[in-house]
Amino acid sequence: MEENNEARCPQCGKLLVYGRVDRRFCSVTCKNLWHNRLRYPAREKEIKRVLRILNNNRDVLDRLLRVGITQLDRVSLEHMGFNVNYFTSMYRYRKHYVYTCLDIRYVLTPTRIRKLSYLGEGVDDSV
Ligand SMILES: [Zn+2]
Repeated sequence: MEENNEARCPQCGKLLVYGRVDRRFCSVTCKNLWHNRLRYPAREKEIKRVLRILNNNRDVLDRLLRVGITQLDRVSLEHMGFNVNYFTSMYRYRKHYVYTCLDIRYVLTPTRIRKLSYLGEGVDDSV
């Protein structure tokens, strides 16, 4: 008798309860994720790097909003660790570019960040 017949999916850790004895993954999705990760380790590293920067940017903006700051000069912003090259969306609104970083919206000018707000709060057409 086998000692350990409890097999788990190496991608998600789910217990494999049915299927062939030599079945390794719980699903085709997990199988593909696992093999892509092996095949493209640089891609995964790059995604993690970008997500880290976005999260950090979001944290900087969140810290400002929590103390009621909705605008700041760019130099101070960058000193706080904000990287202006990373955001999750951008569109032109009249004369300005409106950016979002996850759930926070802002206007970035050559010298300032302005109109900081959480999405769905306090923004209007006066941007
Ligand atoms: Zn799985």
